[in-house]
Amino acid sequence: MSASLATVAYIGAIILFILSLGGLSSPESSRRGNLYGMIGMTIAVLATVFGPRVTMAGIPWIIGAMVVGGSIGLYAARKVQMTQMPELVALMHSLVGLAACLVGFANYIDPMSSLNLSSAEKAIHEIEVYVGILIGAVTFSGSLIAFGKLSGKIGGKPLLLPGRHFLNLIGLLVVIAFGYQFLHAETISAGMIALTVMTVIALLFGIHMVMAIGGADMPVVVSMLNSYSGWAAAATGFMLNNDLLIVVGALVGSSGAILSYIMCRAMNRNFISVIAGGFGGGTPVKKFGGDAQPAGEVVAINATETAELLREAKNVIIVPGYGMAVAQAQHTVYEITQLLREKGVNVRFGIHPVAGRMPGHMNVLLAEAKVPYDIVMEMDELNGDFPDTDVAIVIGANDIVNPAAQDDPTSPIAGMPVLEVWKAKTSIMMKRSMAAGYAGVDNPLFYKDNNRMLFGDAKKMLDEVLVALKA
Ligand code: NDP
Repeated sequence: MSASLATVAYIGAIILFILSLGGLSSPESSRRGNLYGMIGMTIAVLATVFGPRVTMAGIPWIIGAMVVGGSIGLYAARKVQMTQMPELVALMHSLVGLAACLVGFANYIDPMSSLNLSSAEKAIHEIEVYVGILIGAVTFSGSLIAFGKLSGKIGGKPLLLPGRHFLNLIGLLVVIAFGYQFLHAETISAGMIALTVMTVIALLFGIHMVMAIGGADMPVVVSMLNSYSGWAAAATGFMLNNDLLIVVGALVGSSGAILSYIMCRAMNRNFISVIAGGFGGGTPVKKFGGDAQPAGEVVAINATETAELLREAKNVIIVPGYGMAVAQAQHTVYEITQLLREKGVNVRFGIHPVAGRMPGHMNVLLAEAKVPYDIVMEMDELNGDFPDTDVAIVIGANDIVNPAAQDDPTSPIAGMPVLEVWKAKTSIMMKRSMAAGYAGVDNPLFYKDNNRMLFGDAKKMLDEVLVALKA
């Protein structure tokens, strides 16, 4: 393929990627958005593999690597549970970071990469390598820790080392000092020493940064690492002089940054304080279910009584959360919704921006169950409607309906906007036990007079509610 044909293909791929991002902004167009992305990526890969910069001898290697990588990707995508998606995404981000590091090192030791460059061009190229490896290493180790935290392999509580900001500052100064040495290195091996020291510090920084973040701040970290992985790809694009990688990396980097900003706003958090970490670590966390005593009386309810309340209701709001994803209860939820709507009940869904474990988690599940988009509302759209609601059913959600966020300034989630389900005539909390949610904070909603607890697996209990409703 000639260089100009490859450029045309790249431009086509870039346009498709932009259309893809546009499509992903709404549930109605998201399938189309995904399709554009898939076509764009196919064009990009073909134009790169058969483009002017790959020799015939290299093609079998690339195809071999693609078969191995593609098979692992296919296997992981088929096997992953919906609840494990955030972990998989974090793991994928780590691979982008690792790739940026490996390309950086390979590029530095490849004599061809700086052949015929003037001294200014060579300096710019070395800065690209240094910065690319730096971002890549932070993304790699940070994403691995995020994977550990999301999958529960590492505890969610923030790790707060004494003088942690000072440690980070020292790390930054060392990285700058070694950057200077790297740019002035006489030999490749001297440069490699500086690069290696910087990489180790960047890896430690990534670990330290994400370990220090806890409580309900993880959503912001996941989208921030998404953004970093984009910038790491863009940096790789600069190293390799590949315009497509630069543009696509910048698209991912900036959309991840915008998402982080939106998430921060949704949680009423300041981006800098999220990154500085420590959220959710100050107050001792009360968790129930073990030896700890609950902070009040709760009123339990069974499936038949729940069906009775629903049958008599005119307005119902369903608030799904992480537990609905765990139980895979979305299909039963929709069957109940259909039944109630046929009886003339106004049923709507209230979606919190950080419900579940990834942005849009609940929307994806409800779309999978074919719940119509026009009854799926964002938090702000229906938060004012709870006082006119007869029954608010909370299905496996906890932090996102915690009144302590509004009432208790000392709560680790103070200030986070929540769905005000307690303002409904009756709220029904569906969960298996008295355990806390992701942020590990007690939920005073359990003990409110108008709240009922429907204990059990969400899918099992909803199946029982459905049977009782049909009876
Ligand atoms: P939570 O994690 O606060 O609560 C989920 C509840 O579901 C738990 O209390 C659990 O209680 C219950 N549950 C679990 N399994 C089942 C089941 N099979 N059947 C019934 N109930 C079940 O979830 P929310 O959605 O309310 O809030 C999301 C939290 O996750 C926020 O703190 C958010 O910051 C954080 N987060 C969000 C991300 C995002 O991008 N959306 C990313 C990372 C973190 P029990 O064990 O008693 O059943």
